[in-house]
Amino acid sequence: MKIVMLGAPGAGKGTQAAMIAEKYGIPHISTGDIFRFNIKNGTELGKEAKTYMDEGKLVPDELTVRILLDRVSKDDCREGYVLDGFPRTIPQAEVLDGKLREMQDGIDFALDIEVPDEHIVSRMSGRRACLNCGATYHVRYAAPKQEGVCDACGGRLVLRDDDKPETVQKRLEVYHDQTQPLIEYYAGKGVLKKVDGTQELHKVFADIVKILEG
Ligand code: ADP
Ligand code: ADP
Ligand code: ZN
Repeated sequence: MKIVMLGAPGAGKGTQAAMIAEKYGIPHISTGDIFRFNIKNGTELGKEAKTYMDEGKLVPDELTVRILLDRVSKDDCREGYVLDGFPRTIPQAEVLDGKLREMQDGIDFALDIEVPDEHIVSRMSGRRACLNCGATYHVRYAAPKQEGVCDACGGRLVLRDDDKPETVQKRLEVYHDQTQPLIEYYAGKGVLKKVDGTQELHKVFADIVKILEG
């Protein structure tokens, strides 16, 4: 099963992708997490990506596509995967489709998690991320057992540099401009499914499971 998560920054893609990955035993692949691990480890890739991320801009397609194709060609991806935060532009989607077509394959579901912009800023300011394992929490809606500590790995939780309100606003603009057209793109391929992302997160997940198990 190959799944793409669509939706604005903060819509809940990562939260839902992690639950899908666990339930169906497929890898959760987040390009944002890959960039953040690289930033944390001080790699060249991380240094380049950070300049764009801190401004709320997209990392260039060429670099992002290279990293994603490399990741999905690993052995653990043979049975499928859930992509979170990729594709974010039409050219990225076209490269992925081209690659899948070579293997007589394609995306099975593009799940669009719908959340209006007004909800996003408050969600983001309460988001806390574990830079060690990628797990995401929310101070009110999905609090860790112990404040500031990751339930999954014991890592320290941080407010991401790009979750400041000014940067979130910029990311929303970029989303509407460059990423939202993917909704039409996947609708045209007959794989788009919409989910109401304003519901409580377990309810959102129940709706997703219904779609996947149709
Ligand atoms: P969110 O989950 O809040 O939408 P992500 O972790 O997916 O955030 O992405 C954080 C940042 O990483 C983006 O604002 C962008 O700069 C960069 N990024 C992640 N994925 C991509 C991608 N597919 N293409 C370009 N930039 C990306
Ligand atoms: P994305 O990957 O789309 O940027 P996240 O999954 O990181 O979004 O979610 C953004 C923030 O909102 C996180 O702090 C997360 O814990 C919280 N969150 C996710 N889903 C919900 C929901 N259905 N209701 C309330 N808060 C949510
Ligand atoms: Zn962790």
